Amino acid sequence: MEPYYPLHALVCDGCFLVQLKEYVQPEHIFTEYAYFSAYSTSWVEHARRYCEMIKTRWVLTETAAVYEVASNDGYLLQHFLPLAVPVVGIEPAANVAEVARQKNIPTLVEFLRPEAGAAAGV
Ligand SMILES: [Zn+2]
Repeated sequence: MEPYYPLHALVCDGCFLVQLKEYVQPEHIFTEYAYFSAYSTSWVEHARRYCEMIKTRWVLTETAAVYEVASNDGYLLQHFLPLAVPVVGIEPAANVAEVARQKNIPTLVEFLRPEAGAAAGV
């Protein structure tokens, strides 16, 4: 039987951030992840246009660095490589992070925690 859990959205009074209560350990969900963002060609094309737009808007050069949290298989960061903008992906799922690494995208296999920031040099 497929497991299921309560859906109870928690809303921050200060900033209206909505989060779910942690019913399952993140490691249980994300260690081996089944979703690869690059499978959606329209999403990848949207990401390509976004990277070109944001490079111009923020005047990103080779001295900048783009960090993406939950970078999946590199569907977004791959588009910064031909634009000569350095990137670092942070992705907890080792199987999708490996696909990003095969695209020459430096990717840390980490959850977003202070240790991940230190490892990324942030
Ligand atoms: Zn808040």
